[in-house]
Amino acid sequence: MIDEYDFNLNHVVSVIKEKRARVVGLQFPDGFRREAVRISDEIGRRVDVRCLISANSCFGACDVDNRLLESVDIMFQFGHARIPNITVENTHFIEVISLTRVLPVIKQAIGMISGRVGLVSTAQFVHTLADVQKYLAEHGITGVIHDGDGRIARPGLVLGCNFSAAAPDCDEYLYVGTGDFHALGVALATKKTVLIADPVTEEVRMPDSDRMIRKRCAAIERSLDAQSIGVIVSTKIGQCRRELAFDLCTMAEEHGLDTQILVMDMVTPDALLSFDLDVFVSTACPRIAIDDSATFPAPVLTPVEFEVVVGERRWEDLVFDEIS
Ligand code: SF4
Repeated sequence: MIDEYDFNLNHVVSVIKEKRARVVGLQFPDGFRREAVRISDEIGRRVDVRCLISANSCFGACDVDNRLLESVDIMFQFGHARIPNITVENTHFIEVISLTRVLPVIKQAIGMISGRVGLVSTAQFVHTLADVQKYLAEHGITGVIHDGDGRIARPGLVLGCNFSAAAPDCDEYLYVGTGDFHALGVALATKKTVLIADPVTEEVRMPDSDRMIRKRCAAIERSLDAQSIGVIVSTKIGQCRRELAFDLCTMAEEHGLDTQILVMDMVTPDALLSFDLDVFVSTACPRIAIDDSATFPAPVLTPVEFEVVVGERRWEDLVFDEIS
């Protein structure tokens, strides 16, 4: 399965040679971590350099291992496109692209889409969108690829925290990739139908928005009687939203709630266990509240969900939390 990805090691080696680096850091997200040793060995075979593999978390380009960065000449983070509006010195983001062919699944999707279709994808498949657009055009369908905002490196790229590359004024959206989360985010952000074309399973399906919305509504309902909240601020470079946390505190206090700000790197159930607070509001990666909610000792809400709790936002205006 992993042979279906291109880790762009020629580019990595050329950067090491060009920079005359002696010690380099390597960061991998969980999905590629089992390839870390092979890649470190391969780099070591091709260029005289010492590789240090980060064993810490790496959830996105927002999550650079700063401690490791301090002790290496350059860092390579695999699997994520850079976030243009974040500056991280000496770090190269190596997009790991899937070599799986996408057109077989797009062929299946053809009969299920029409009109003006917004095309979106993740870092592993975003390079295929131009081909998908061409293929759709040959079948009389207009595929639209949109730039997105300053957090987005490539047209059509969606992150779990940013759906700005979903083109406006489309009739529906086609998400090319695996998993449901990004497609769900696009569906909530646009209020339009999103179809998932999964090149790996060769399956075309719709994300189950209702189930996810029901779970989030349950978390909001469990928070309605809260007397105290902890607002979580992440120290990760691309997740730190301190000003938003201050605004949420002000809002909470105006609604008579006791409020504390908790600052942490990794937001985990264990890290929150000792704090006697009724509800947590996370300004860190929006996926924490949504993906891991069942594992936390108390409800963990996104900022927009907290606005619903205190009556500053209508239930029907509930969307995914986004970072721009
Ligand atoms: S904040 Fe979360 S969703 Fe956004 S880039 Fe980071 S890990 Fe991904």
